[in-house]
Amino acid sequence: MAKRVYLFSEGSKDDRDLLGGKGANLCEMTSLGLPVPFGFVITTPTCHEFFERGNTLPTLLEQEYRVALDLVEKHMGGRFGDPENPLLFSVRSGAPVSMPGMMDTVLNLGLNDEIVEGLARKTGNPRFAYDSYRRFIQMFADVVLGVEGARFEEAISEYKRQHDKVLDVDLSAEDWQAVIEVFKTITDWPQDPFEQLKRAVEAVFLSWHSPRANVYREMNDIPATLGTAVSVQAMVFGNFGDDSGSGVAFTRDPATGENRFFGEVLFNAAGEDVVAGIRTPEPIEALQKRLPEVYQELYETQALLEKHYRDMQDIEFTVQEGKFYILQTRSGKRTGRASVKIAVDMVKEDLIGEKEALLRVSPEHVEAFLHPMVDPAAKTDIVASGLPASPGGATGRVVFSADEAVEVAADGTPVVLVRRETTPEDIHGMKAAEGILTEQGGMTSHAAVVARGMGVCAITGCGALTIDYRAGTATNVDGIEIRRGDVITLDGNTGDVMLGDVPKIEASESDDFRVLLSWADKHRRLRVRANADTREDAERARSLGAEGIGLCRTEHMFFGAERIVEMRSMILSETKEERELHLSRLLRFQHEDMLGLYQAMDNLPVTIRLLDPPLHEFLPNTDDDLTAMAASMGKPIEKIREIAEGLSEVNPMLGFRGCRLSVVYPEITVMQVRAIIGAAIEATEQGFRPFPEIMIPLVVNVREIRLINDIIERTIHEMVSDKKVSISYKIGTMMETPRACLGADRLAPAVEFMSFGTNDLTQMTYGFSRDDAARFVPQYLDKKIIETDPFVSLDQRAVGRLIEMSVAESAARKKGIKYGVCGEHGGDPRSVRFFHELGLDYVSCSPFRVPVARIAAAQANVAGSGA
Ligand code: PEP
Ligand code: MG
Repeated sequence: MAKRVYLFSEGSKDDRDLLGGKGANLCEMTSLGLPVPFGFVITTPTCHEFFERGNTLPTLLEQEYRVALDLVEKHMGGRFGDPENPLLFSVRSGAPVSMPGMMDTVLNLGLNDEIVEGLARKTGNPRFAYDSYRRFIQMFADVVLGVEGARFEEAISEYKRQHDKVLDVDLSAEDWQAVIEVFKTITDWPQDPFEQLKRAVEAVFLSWHSPRANVYREMNDIPATLGTAVSVQAMVFGNFGDDSGSGVAFTRDPATGENRFFGEVLFNAAGEDVVAGIRTPEPIEALQKRLPEVYQELYETQALLEKHYRDMQDIEFTVQEGKFYILQTRSGKRTGRASVKIAVDMVKEDLIGEKEALLRVSPEHVEAFLHPMVDPAAKTDIVASGLPASPGGATGRVVFSADEAVEVAADGTPVVLVRRETTPEDIHGMKAAEGILTEQGGMTSHAAVVARGMGVCAITGCGALTIDYRAGTATNVDGIEIRRGDVITLDGNTGDVMLGDVPKIEASESDDFRVLLSWADKHRRLRVRANADTREDAERARSLGAEGIGLCRTEHMFFGAERIVEMRSMILSETKEERELHLSRLLRFQHEDMLGLYQAMDNLPVTIRLLDPPLHEFLPNTDDDLTAMAASMGKPIEKIREIAEGLSEVNPMLGFRGCRLSVVYPEITVMQVRAIIGAAIEATEQGFRPFPEIMIPLVVNVREIRLINDIIERTIHEMVSDKKVSISYKIGTMMETPRACLGADRLAPAVEFMSFGTNDLTQMTYGFSRDDAARFVPQYLDKKIIETDPFVSLDQRAVGRLIEMSVAESAARKKGIKYGVCGEHGGDPRSVRFFHELGLDYVSCSPFRVPVARIAAAQANVAGSGA
């Protein structure tokens, strides 16, 4: 017969399957010689037996655990069921994988009407005894007898009302005695401690199939066949008087990561009092003063635990009558900054290696070094929540238009730009704003993409707010109004919108941050580039470790005051000659911009995408602007309106955009190539080494590429044939349509690189509009139709398969093609891991995301190599 009961001294951390996570940890700590309140574990296979026998405990189980119980009594010096020297137990669940709070627990087991009196006598603390008893009754009734907990809470409230008491701490021993008498009118409970124990064990096994446990397992893919173990552990009490107490300690500072022992203690209090926050704990130094020996033991224990587990620990302890007990240790939660510091320090201290250090941080943790973060301790007054589109925290006065943002910000007043959605025309306002909040738009909407690129905090798709531009208000679902000029704070990491100025933790790079990133670079294979359109962004990207530009969206270069006029004139031209005139003026700007990028990215590749978006996005959308445009072009307003209307589309995202523009207006492409190559020649003459890569967007057919390749090659030939310099350039395509992916083998001969535009590819694979998905994706997530927003984390099953297939089939057709990703997924850690596994050459993401991608790429490599 397999052993069903293990004393804490008989197991180790390797016995998770048999003893559950909690049981295995208690055994591990016991075998380290630590003062864990003693106990035993009933194994997981016993849980299976219990279910197989129709929810009945195996016949011999009670005999087995009674033997263990005897030994526990000897160890602890008390007796279960003995009024003169009572020993109480906790009975807890513990599955092989953690399911926090999902199953049941009974505390203070072993009390009855007689034993409670003994406990009161022995401790000289009747209040404590009766309070413990009533807690036991409440838990036992709830967990084992299925009596609704609310009935007991009501009885307590009623008693307090009648006796003019407010808080639980106002109730004396006699009060609790009286309350227990009321409890007796609600339910009976077994007086025999052994009966209590048996029923509690059964209830914990049964809680494996409780509805909340079932839902949790389903959500987290935990097999229902695992079952749970039961830990039965002697109770110790911190509320036995002034030489008792409870506390929590961290082996390092969880906020800063500093290597200093850190903790809090509450004298004469139970563990739950510390958690409940009724009284304010004292710093751990108070323990050193009052009980120096206990402090010393705690200090040595924490050092030992950190060394043993090789990670920062969060420890719960109790002191009962001057004797120290450790109840729990686990890896401590920490802030992003602390996690990086601890990982780097632990390598220096020889506790872990570089690869392990890389796996210890979450890639997003490095963002704490790049953006100010809303202080989680200070968060209040959340009025709405949207999508966390661009990280960081921002506070400012609310403005409702881009012009207003610029105006108000002119004297240094911080502003938050609140819009239904943003368009390229809002760029100046977005630049002036500390934060951006939109009612509509998903994670790849204009606002999200541009804000991330600029490193400005943004929340998009905040449908909980209704914006009224005319009234200058944004109203939440409860009718709370945010008015123009009000101060609000955005948390771009959670999507929360808060009233007022919520304190933030300032960002600053640190040596630890740089050291960790240098290890990431040493241990990764996937390269990381940035999506950048200006010299400024490119310089920042490079300083954050970008190894080139993976996507320059040239259309972003046409929104400056002077440029937009030329751009609009070009679009509104009626003849090719007219268009070419305006293009020749745009060429100057484009040339300068390219030169800036090459200089910033000296020696590194710069991928420049030919003009991509629907032309009407550039057109004036107010009557005043149209009139001004007509005047500047010397044309009647009706004519301008007619052309503009002719350009409007029913479905612009699937309309006249991408390479379709080059097919219809080759002169635009000619101008762009002139700028790209002309600037490359100039940069070379200045002593830089530019590596332009010309990227053709949104193709569906190899003939599109051939046609545009011809235009590009012809233009380049004309430019370089009489020059002494030679320019090394590449021509490739963006893989953004399912058809391109399905025909990747046919595209292969015509390209030198393929860069997956996963934003459009996701949009087109799903048929979910990027700009409108925020309306329904949250519901899809809530209803568990999808697990993650496919615009944030790549849908590996469908979009990932298209990419995998494209790579395999094009590589089989032509060697040497370079593969990259330049959609937003290039900065998403989970997606980056997938791209690494596919063997792509690089990912490209917004400049501020570059460090995140560097860490994620290293983690994928390190984890893959089995470090
Ligand atoms: C994409 O579609 O993934 C992409 C990078 O292009 P854009 O977001 O500019 O459409
Ligand atoms: Mg695209």
